[in-house]
Amino acid sequence: MEQFVVSAIKYRPLTFASVVGQSSISTTLKNAIQRQHLAHAYLFCGPRGVGKTTCARIFAKTINCLSPTADMEACGVCESCKSFAEGRSYSIHELDAASNNSVEDIRLLIDKVRVPPQIGKYSVYIIDEVHMLSASAFNAFLKTLEEPPAHAIFILATTEKHKILPTILSRCQIFDFNRITIEDTVKHLGEIADKEGIKYEPEAFNIIAHKADGAMRDALSIYDRVISFCSNDITYKAVIEDLNVLDYEYYFRITDAFLESRYTDAILILDEILRKGFDTLHFISGLSTHFRDLLVCKDPRTVPLLEVSHSIAERYKQQAAQSSVEFLFDALNLSNQCEVGYKNSGNPRLHVELSLIKIANIRLEKKNSLNVSEEKNSGKEAITAQQPVSTVDVPKTKPLPDAPQSISLKNMLNDAAEASDTPKEEVVKTEEPGVSFTEEQLVEKWRQYAQSIQAKQPRLSSALLEHTAKLVDGYIINYPALHEKQKQQLTERTQGLIDFLRKELKNPKIQIEWVVEETILEKAKNAVYTLDDKLKFLIQKNPVVEKLKKDLDLDFR
Ligand SMILES: [Zn+2]
Repeated sequence: MEQFVVSAIKYRPLTFASVVGQSSISTTLKNAIQRQHLAHAYLFCGPRGVGKTTCARIFAKTINCLSPTADMEACGVCESCKSFAEGRSYSIHELDAASNNSVEDIRLLIDKVRVPPQIGKYSVYIIDEVHMLSASAFNAFLKTLEEPPAHAIFILATTEKHKILPTILSRCQIFDFNRITIEDTVKHLGEIADKEGIKYEPEAFNIIAHKADGAMRDALSIYDRVISFCSNDITYKAVIEDLNVLDYEYYFRITDAFLESRYTDAILILDEILRKGFDTLHFISGLSTHFRDLLVCKDPRTVPLLEVSHSIAERYKQQAAQSSVEFLFDALNLSNQCEVGYKNSGNPRLHVELSLIKIANIRLEKKNSLNVSEEKNSGKEAITAQQPVSTVDVPKTKPLPDAPQSISLKNMLNDAAEASDTPKEEVVKTEEPGVSFTEEQLVEKWRQYAQSIQAKQPRLSSALLEHTAKLVDGYIINYPALHEKQKQQLTERTQGLIDFLRKELKNPKIQIEWVVEETILEKAKNAVYTLDDKLKFLIQKNPVVEKLKKDLDLDFR
């Protein structure tokens, strides 16, 4: 059986060209060798797993190569290259300062430095994790660094540049290694998988790259782990399961729910996620990232900041197109607040649920605030136009917001938020707080009013007595309207009813929504209302009518 070699070692780059994601550093180092412009000390800084030690080794090998290629890569076949590959090079020395950090270790190294190389021009000393050297070891080393022999080159590597003494920093040429981008990592994993004949979904490698957070070494070890149970087919699903990563699908779904103000669906999706064992805070921080990614899609200049695979990027663009920038700002703000307040909340789940409800409510709030401001304006007119207020025939107001769910959502939100955004109360003259009442009380008062206008407005009266009013949410009343036209008429003619109910039931918030039901609408389609309808109806029955109308140039009077 073939021996298993971890991918980070098996695929460790041996040439500058194969180093992933550090091309500018590779180029600079190659140029230095070509121009024979070598410094005595280099410091490679950067996060773990991004290729510092790998580059140091390639650099050292290439410096000593007896016949480098035209592109300044080590030949791999000369005596120097061979001895390095076989680990018996006397010109390239490595010291891991993490485990050899005493003065004694450094003294041994310094003794070696004095000896000139047997092959090649330079002796190269690679000191990994140099920040781990003890203070006295640092001092001992500093003397050598101040006056190095002509043949000595030091390559120091560290993840913690700030721990390096300024006296050492000032003697080094410093290279800052960047995290490897998601794109580069995914590409590299793809190349390795191709070499090994392993099938994969690019999204799967994307997840690995995100998890590795810019460190290729980590990406490769995750890759090895995934292979061990996926065998030869790495799927997105298998990877998110193995890495316990929350599927981005949830975020797309929940955002769809937010955009359509379906707060119950949002809460159900949260429940689904929690039942799968994901952490609530993990979810909410992922949600913030999702909003951030959507926001990034809104401007072509920031689209490159979206670090996802191509197929997912398309989905982000689609969802971003459906969301306004304002919505995303508000949503991001709310999810952030949720994260911040999470630790201090007595009931974390409820805390998150409330945030989700608030996010689902953003669009409705916007819609309502538009309606409310209109209503407010007309309300003011009403006050100035006629005082005191009579029960009937108040100048018409604009139709009430036609979003019944919005109110139930609002009730679920805290009172503070509610109090701040209910200018509706200004319309009402009595400033008393809303008293709750039952549907029976409502129906009784409704009937009283309808009967009281019977003599003056018989048609409105009978329309109001035709059905039974329903109390849907504390102070929202639903009443069927036959069709849009009747809805409009009712809206225009019932300010008196609203005032009456508000006064009698002692609740200034009372609103009526005239609901055009589909079934009623369906019926209405076949019914005959206007003169035009009547004419069409007659023509249908007897086509001669149309000819008659045309020939005699008839019209409605
Ligand atoms: Zn060589």
